[in-house]
Formats: sequence, structure tokens, C-alpha cells
Amino acid sequence: MSLNINPVEAFDLVVFGITGDLAHRKILPALCHRFSIGQIPKETRIIGVARGEKSKEQFHAEMAEALDKHLPKGRCDDQCVKDFLDCFHYVKLDVLGEDGWQELKDLLNERPNPVRAFYLSVAPSLFAEISVRLGKSGIATEGSRIVLEKPFGHDLQSAKDLNARLKSCFDECQIYRIDHYLGKETVQNLMALRFANALFEPLWNSQHIDHVQITVAETLGIAGRGGYYDHAGAMRDMVQNHMMQVMCLIAMEPPARFDADSVRDEKLKVIKALDPLDIRNTVRGQYRAGNGGGSYREEAENPDSMTESAVALKAAISNWRWSGVPFYLRTGKRLRAHVSEIMIKFKEPPHNIFEQSRPAEGNALILRLQPGEGITLMMTIKEPGSGGMRFLRVPLDMSFAETLGGRTGVLGNAYERLIMDVIRGDQTLFMRGDEAEAAWAWVDPVIAAWQESGERPQPYDALGSGPEAALALMHRDGREWREIETEPDA
Ligand code: NAD
Repeated sequence: MSLNINPVEAFDLVVFGITGDLAHRKILPALCHRFSIGQIPKETRIIGVARGEKSKEQFHAEMAEALDKHLPKGRCDDQCVKDFLDCFHYVKLDVLGEDGWQELKDLLNERPNPVRAFYLSVAPSLFAEISVRLGKSGIATEGSRIVLEKPFGHDLQSAKDLNARLKSCFDECQIYRIDHYLGKETVQNLMALRFANALFEPLWNSQHIDHVQITVAETLGIAGRGGYYDHAGAMRDMVQNHMMQVMCLIAMEPPARFDADSVRDEKLKVIKALDPLDIRNTVRGQYRAGNGGGSYREEAENPDSMTESAVALKAAISNWRWSGVPFYLRTGKRLRAHVSEIMIKFKEPPHNIFEQSRPAEGNALILRLQPGEGITLMMTIKEPGSGGMRFLRVPLDMSFAETLGGRTGVLGNAYERLIMDVIRGDQTLFMRGDEAEAAWAWVDPVIAAWQESGERPQPYDALGSGPEAALALMHRDGREWREIETEPDA
């Protein structure tokens, strides 16, 4: 298959927090790969900002080391990495201080590129401060873009405050709230599957769909990240952003056009159609010690922590299309496998003509976000051989890596795609401010209700299936979670 690469014009990307974990693990490798395939021109400038004093050589050496560690082997050869590093500049700047801003401005003005983007890969407590300073100092120009990492606020009020401060300096069309889930190939394929095929959309409603499951399971605990995580919890860290965004893409009406505001308007309508969450339809869990790791409370270094490391919930969307179709969401740390997937479970055929045996189960469409992005359709077929009609459930499987061969390597990861969208000025895959606020408005009351209840999240076994109560949440509706497995053949 031929490679389809649309080079962008040279741009200036200022990365605040260039020495941090996210910049090293995700942003730098993403940019380097796009450089290596010729999408990013060599006249581009990547301006790293951090507090330490470094010479250009020191800075380049640090960037080279980070790339060596985090760039998948074979992605770029040594010469390419060397050429890429020529794009790098460093400015020493404490964003809470006065020094360095003029130097940054002078550097940018030396060679004004048409596209100027600021990536805030720093603690969220610094977002407002940096954006206001960029705006007031004139460093951010009218066409500049600002990219914010998650979390976007801690609750509705803080998200509103942050939006207000951002909007005092930037228009909404300049603000890119990054949610890397939306950059995943399968998540975008959800839209292609639904709106570029005629097959599924007629079935995509309460007449044909029994329920939807969204699972984001991780094997890792929070060791080393307890400081952040224990103040957030699974609801804030995963549900309010990634999982709600995915739910919106599954549930939204077809937008009139595939442009940022048409898509985001439809996603917002889904959030607004969500019934308020009933605490009885939610489950919280905390992992126990075991399987080579400490308990949640030990890893959080907070023996009384009431923060959830897992959540399961049942959501209802009250609109014409989804009335009566539950959306079950679950996420957790220290679960059996590292897997993110969506399952659309279809209803069973209305009448069974096979008197002796029943077809195994209704069809299910499974969209795997990780590992190995792909789509599987579970079908019922006749078991081969004599002996009458017995049924088997088999997968029609499409792994993107297998089907698209070498192209998936070129497509790269979610960060690559999203950063290139920022440069192109395409906000379709970024959360709008009102979406973020509406999502907080939905999760806030249940977080408050949990706190009021004073109940401890239910302990669950490390590397198991999650809290017992999450299984019961399904069982009481006569349904089951799909097994948490890494292989897509369940
Ligand atoms: P980090 O602590 O590793 O890096 C923070 C960076 O900010 C460092 O480069 C540090 O030098 C810089 N910094 C801190 N205070 C500064 C100041 N006053 N002036 C200038 N620079 C300053 O953090 P991280 O893990 O890279 O996370 C960055 C952002 O990305 C956070 O908002 C985080 O929530 C978000 N995020 C991170 C990950 C991840 O995997 N690391 C995933 C999702 C979202």
C-alpha cells in the first residue's frame, strides 16, 4: 500500500516541560517519527522550555538520550535523529518568574513561522498562569494555538475557572484540550465504521443493540504516581475524559459534516442527554496487595485513602436512539490485562427457529483500542459436521496491523496524529470547553455522593477481574462483562 503523507508547513512548537516524563516518552518520539517520514520540514523549530540552566549541547544530548530510550527501535536512523535535533532550541524559563519570557519572544520573532503552537506539558496548576502570560506578553499571536494536557480541571468549578482564564487570552478555536484516546486509530475508526459504511448505522439504536460495554483495564498500579492519583481517582482520571469521549462517539448522532464544531456539538448533546448517575449504579474499588505489588493504600502512601483505583458504572442516555440501552463503563488499575476495548452487544434474533439448540449469543462488535488496534465481529455459525444444527461463536477479525501491513507503522501513535492536527488547525479530535464542563457536571455529583457516604471502595484482588460488586452490577441485569483478556478471541 502506498504511503500518504501530507507535509505540513514549517512551524514553531514551544514545549513547556520539555524535560518531563510526557515530553520524553510521547511528544519527542511522536515529533521525531513525523520528521523522519518527511511530514515535518527541517525549518521547523521545537523550542523546549524548562527551569534548568543548559547549554545547547547539553540540551541536545538530553533530547538524544530521551529519543534513544523511547523511540521504538528502527523508527529513525542516526542521521535522521541528528537532523531532527537541529530543529531544537532551549529557553530557560520558570513560568512563575519574570525571566526568560523576553528571550522566548525574541527567539520566536527572529523567524516568525506562520504556525505557532504552545504545548503545556506541565502540571495542570500552571496552565492558567502560562496561558495568561503568553497572552499578555504578546508571545501568543492571533493565530497561535495552545495545547493542554489532561486533567482539564478537577471538577466543574475548576474547569470553568480554567476555561475563563484561557478565554481571556485565547479564542476557543485556538485551544486544543488533548485527549490522546481520541487520536487512537480505532476511536477514529468508530466514526468511519458508523458514517462511512451503510451496514451498521441502521442497526445502531435501541431496536437492535442490547447494551454497550467500554473497558479500560491496566495491569500497573499507581506506584510512583500516588501523589497525583490519590487526589484524582479513576473517575476523574479516566471516566470524565477518555471514557466519556469514547461513549460520546459511540452514541452521537451523525454530524452534518466531519468538522470540529459539527462533531463536538453532537458529542455535547450526548453528555447532556445522560441521566444523572445514581450512586447505586456505580461501584468503586481499591486493589489489594498481591502478585508482586503493594495494595492501593500502600502505593498511595495513604493508609486511609478513600480514592478509587477502579470504577464500574451503568449510564443511561435518555434520547430517542438510546432509550433503554445501558452503557456499562469500567476501568481500573492492577487488573488482569492491559486492554481497552468497546463492545457493542446486539440483541438476539427475535425468534429461534432451531428447536433443539439455541444460537450461542447475540452478535457483538468489539473495537479494540489497545493492545493491537482492530475490530472483531462475533458471529454465530453452524458447527461443522454432522449431527444436526449446533452453533459456534466465531470472530470475524480485523487487526489493523495485519490488514494494513507496513502502513500501521507509518500511522504511528495517537500523539503524532494529534500534534499534526494542532499544526494543521484541526480541532475535531479535541475536547471543546463546554464538553469538558458538561462531563464534569455529570461526574461531580456522584463523586460528592461517594464522599458523603463515607464508604471505603471495595477491595479487589490484584491482577483479577476487578471488584465483585462490578460483576454484580451486570449480573443483576442478566448480563456479563466481557472477560478482560489481551487476545480478541473471547
Ligand atoms: P513531569 O513532572 O514529569 O514534568 C513536568 C515538567 O514541567 C518538567 O519539565 C518541569 O521542569 C516543568 N516545570 C515544572 N514547574 C515549572 C516551572 N515553574 N516553570 C517551567 N517549567 C516547569 O510531568 P509529566 O508527567 O510530564 O506531565 C506533564 C503534564 O502532562 C501534566 O499536566 C500531566 O497531568 C499530563 N499527563 C502526563 C502523562 C504522562 O504519562 N506522564 C499522561 C497524561 C497526561
